[in-house]
Amino acid sequence: MLSIKNLHATIGDKEILKGINLEVKAGEVHAIMGPNGAGKSTLASIIAGNENYEVTSGEISLDGEDLAELAPEERAHKGVFLSFQYPVEIPGVSVTNFIRTAINETRKAQGLEEMPANQMLKVIREKSELLEIDRKFLSRSLNEGFSGGEKKRNEIFQMAMLEPKLAILDETDSGLDIDALRIVASGVNKLKSDKNAVVIITHYQRLLDYIVPDFVHVLMDGKIVKSGDASLALELEEKGYDWIKQESFV
Ligand code: ADP
Ligand code: MG
Ligand code: MG
Repeated sequence: MLSIKNLHATIGDKEILKGINLEVKAGEVHAIMGPNGAGKSTLASIIAGNENYEVTSGEISLDGEDLAELAPEERAHKGVFLSFQYPVEIPGVSVTNFIRTAINETRKAQGLEEMPANQMLKVIREKSELLEIDRKFLSRSLNEGFSGGEKKRNEIFQMAMLEPKLAILDETDSGLDIDALRIVASGVNKLKSDKNAVVIITHYQRLLDYIVPDFVHVLMDGKIVKSGDASLALELEEKGYDWIKQESFV
């Protein structure tokens, strides 16, 4: 599904990604871990098409299609979802209305007609029940005064509604509380299928107590220096990152 080959990227004159290789297949959950400043968020932004970074070499493709020339919206329409894509507060626009617009814009870009209102309501009801989101939340103004957990709930709701092929969840380094972690984890666990893939970027192992990844990759200084299964996350929790640094530079 997602194929990244020898990706190098810079911001200004600073090289941040120094040759990333990553293959993600449908049905898989990958975790990307690594110390602060390693380039994790940069990688997520570049996959989503953030134009502040310059890709200097390498390629990123989704289902065999080169993403290089596609704008962020076009990538989104092809099924790439990055959490925190819509962090803006929009007073007067409810969670529901925002998602309704996002869905219809996506459909338009795909050459489909708007989703009929009754169908939209039905889908909203199904997904919100699945994720245990209550009605009051759906009518609140987007992100306005949202707690960390509510932001996550909104994000997971967007993900459930948009049904991305590839969801990239960047948990950032701003410690999520345990409720927010549970919301993300249970949402991901309910939404994952053999048709989609999830890349979870996390600084902390604890999220992976709730979502068991098929693969764990360690990103350090712009490169994936080690990959393994879920047990690697536990090893990192126990031993930190220094041992890998030593191992990878021997
Ligand atoms: P991580 O998510 O792994 O903590 P980031 O991708 O946020 O790492 O950052 C990787 C490196 O790139 C850091 O050294 C950071 O300072 C630098 N960086 C990221 N974004 C910018 C930016 N907009 N301008 C300058 N440097 C940046
Ligand atoms: Mg960081
Ligand atoms: Mg980050």
